[in-house]
Amino acid sequence: MRYYSTNHQAPMATLEEAVVNGLAPDRGLYMPETIHRLPDEFFEGIEHLRFQDIACVVADAFFGEDVEQDALHEIVWDTLQFDCPVVEVTPTIYSLELFHGPTLAFKDVGARFMARLLQYFLTCRGNDERINVLVATSGDTGSAVANGFLGVEGIHVYVLYPKGKVSPIQECQFTTLGQNITALEIDGVFDDCQRLVKSAFMDSELNRHMRLTSANSINVARFLPQAFYYFNAYARMKELGKADRLVVCVPSGNFGNITAALFGHRMGLPISRFIAANNSNDVFYQYLQTGEYHPQPTRQTLANAMDVGDPSNFARVIDLYGGSHERIASLIGGAAYTDYSIRAALRECYESHHYLCDPHGACGYQALKDLLLPGETGVFCETAHPAKFKEKVDATVGTDTAIPERLAAFMRGTKQSVALGKDFGDLKAYLLKQ
Ligand SMILES: *Cc1c(COP(=O)(O)O)cnc(C)c1O
Repeated sequence: MRYYSTNHQAPMATLEEAVVNGLAPDRGLYMPETIHRLPDEFFEGIEHLRFQDIACVVADAFFGEDVEQDALHEIVWDTLQFDCPVVEVTPTIYSLELFHGPTLAFKDVGARFMARLLQYFLTCRGNDERINVLVATSGDTGSAVANGFLGVEGIHVYVLYPKGKVSPIQECQFTTLGQNITALEIDGVFDDCQRLVKSAFMDSELNRHMRLTSANSINVARFLPQAFYYFNAYARMKELGKADRLVVCVPSGNFGNITAALFGHRMGLPISRFIAANNSNDVFYQYLQTGEYHPQPTRQTLANAMDVGDPSNFARVIDLYGGSHERIASLIGGAAYTDYSIRAALRECYESHHYLCDPHGACGYQALKDLLLPGETGVFCETAHPAKFKEKVDATVGTDTAIPERLAAFMRGTKQSVALGKDFGDLKAYLLKQ
């Protein structure tokens, strides 16, 4: 499979190049040249298949031309060591729980898959050159990437995070791991961490010294595997006899997760329509209403993993539908919620249905409540476990959310990090010694 850039100013790339580069040289996002439609028979019998077997079929369609089949299926099985079940909230609203992975958020799926695919490419090349992943984080990405790559041979991960700006629950998920994960505590803010990572990729001396790559969420190896759980959600809903007019609702920030669902739709997955649920960062919602896209400065909200004022995967959505606002707006609906509404949704869902959402999932739940039509059944993504946002959720709902054991285990670990200043010279000197 060849990958083109959404900006059409860069040469086509192989899968390996697209994965190692992340972003195309013209700063566009990579798209597969072909999206294979899966045969009708697959969908006819899909409810009899297990999650991992469904995922293998989807993975074959994306990556089968570039990765040897046994290895690809092993990567899929190794990635999906946890379930993504659908759980009934009301008779017409179901939660697709994407928080059963090691860091309790959906990003685990993409990060684990990408780590294993990179390792596969390293092994194929047969040399023992080490790959170094640099990732800047304001909290969630660092934990998913660090845990996704934990123990993966031949790859070392450096997580750059701003000192004192990351919640203790988030911090322990990447500072206590050891092995091939190094946490770099930067005396600055998140933007400093991002600037440092960019400078490192551009520094030729450093790039001669070590092979650097990013594990950004726009990477095709991180975003495409997210389609796996939409196919599984359809299968499980079909098993329940509720897949006839299925609406999938995705709480969205950078729009990677919903784009993976749209790829699934293009492959024939019978979803009738989609809803992108936003917090008050509502550029996409505005685009749906007006046909005009105006990036905005980011607004801080209760659902902070969706605080994005210029979603990077918007370029992929536009590309997928040939730039047609009409096609996009007829398939995807939108909703945007203030913090006040998110709190109300958290409370109402818990009090009426005894289901505790996290602030992101609450946007998805509310959007289905507001927009589902008679005869439709909705599935919203519960993108993180409520315990990851324990203070906010408990203060809103009056609960005392239990911390799952795998999260508690991180919190008992010993924090290890390397303190660095925010000047690039400090980071460079440190990395040159590695
Ligand atoms: C990253 C994240 C989102 C947003 O997903 P996108 O793919 O960026 O749209 C939503 N909820 C949680 C909990 C996240 O961590």
